[in-house]
Amino acid sequence: MITKLPNVTTSIFAVMSKMAAEYNALNLSQGFPNFKSDPLLIELVNKAMKDGFNQYAPMPGDLGLREVISEKTNLLHKKVYHPDTEITVTAGATQAIFTAIAAIINKGDEAIIFTPAYDCYAPSIELFGGKTIPIQLKAPFYQVNWQEVEHKITPNTKLIIINSPHNPSGSIFSEEDMLQLQELVVKNNLLVISDEVYEHIIFDNLTHFSAARFPELSYRSFIIASFGKTFHNTGWKMGYCLASENLMNEFKKVHQFNVFSVNSPMQKALAEYLKTPENYLNLPHFYQAKRDVFLELIKNSRFKIIPSKGTYFQMLDFSEISQESDIQFTERLTKENKIAMIPTSVFNTHKEDFKQIRVCFAKTDETLKEAATILNAI
Ligand code: PMP
Ligand code: GLN
Repeated sequence: MITKLPNVTTSIFAVMSKMAAEYNALNLSQGFPNFKSDPLLIELVNKAMKDGFNQYAPMPGDLGLREVISEKTNLLHKKVYHPDTEITVTAGATQAIFTAIAAIINKGDEAIIFTPAYDCYAPSIELFGGKTIPIQLKAPFYQVNWQEVEHKITPNTKLIIINSPHNPSGSIFSEEDMLQLQELVVKNNLLVISDEVYEHIIFDNLTHFSAARFPELSYRSFIIASFGKTFHNTGWKMGYCLASENLMNEFKKVHQFNVFSVNSPMQKALAEYLKTPENYLNLPHFYQAKRDVFLELIKNSRFKIIPSKGTYFQMLDFSEISQESDIQFTERLTKENKIAMIPTSVFNTHKEDFKQIRVCFAKTDETLKEAATILNAI
C-alpha cells in the first residue's frame, strides 16, 4: 500500500468550487472574497517587482516585513516577538500549520482538535504518525467544555489546536477560555497551535484574545496568521507564524526544506502596507456590515441562523427545510438552485450531520442580494 492517508479524499473546498463552476452556481462555498484588494497594495507589489525584488527572500522572510509584524503584534497584544528569532513568513497559513505539525509531532503523539475543524489539521497530524483526538462542539454556541478537554489528556498528548474566530461556526474564544487553556497546557506540559487567521474579522465590539496575550501560553504556542484573509487576496498564499525562539528554531528546521522562503515582491509590498494599521483595523467594521446586510436580507427565509461572532462565514440550519444529508442538500442546491455552500459534516470526525451549512459572506452586496433571493425561495 503506497498511501499514507487512506481515508483522505479531495478537500470540500475544491469539490464545491468545481461543482459551482460546472453548474454555473453562485459560489458561496469556498472562503474567498469576490471583491478586489486595495489597489495600493497591488501597486506596491508591482513596484517591488520593477525595483528588482525578484530573487529569493531570506529563509525566515523579509526582515522589514518581520519587523512590522512584530510591531503589529505588540500594538494589538502588547507582546514583542523578536523579528530575528520568533517570526517566520510562510506561504499562507496552511503551510505554517503543516510545518508546525511536522516540526513537533512524532509517531504516537496525540493532538486534540475541536470539531467541526478546519480540514488540514487531522491529515497533517496523521501524516507524521500522530493520533487526532477530536472533541465535538455543538450549535448554537460551539463552546468548549474545558473539563472534557482535561479528561481527554493522556501521557501521550502533545498538542492542542485551537482556532478563534472559528471556521466554520463563527464562534470565538473568550478571555476565560484562553485562561483555562493556559492552565491546562502548563499543567500538562503541552504545545498549542493557535490558528488565528480570522484575527481581524471579529464583530459586535468583541476582542480577539490572541494566544500572544497570555505569557505562559504564548511561550508554548505557534500562532498562525494569513494575509489572504486580512487583505482580500487569498490567492497570494501569504501568512506567518509567531513562536518563542525554541519552538521557532524547530519550525525553521522544517520550513527551510518544505518551502525555504516565500515570494519576495509580495513580502516587500506587505511590509510597506502594514505600516498603516488602519489597513487592518477597519476590518471588523467592514465585515460586520456584510454580515448584517446578509442576515437582514435572509431574515424571512426558512433557514435558522446560527450567530456568527467572527470570520466571514455564517452557519445556517436547514433542519426545518429538508431531511436530506447536508451533502445531498448542498449538492442539490448547487445543481438546481444555482447556489453553492459548504456542508459542515465534512469537518466532523465521524461526519456527524447536524443539518448545518456554511455560507461565505465575503461578497459584494450585489452577490449577497442575489444569494438572498435564492435562499429566500428555498
Ligand atoms: N485556517 C483556517 C481556519 C482557514 O479558514 C484557512 C483558509 N481559509 C486557513 C487556515 C488557510 O489559510 P491560507 O489560505 O492562508 O493557507
Ligand atoms: N479556508 C477556506 C475556507 O474555509 C478555503 C481554503 C482552501 O480552499 N483550502 O473556505
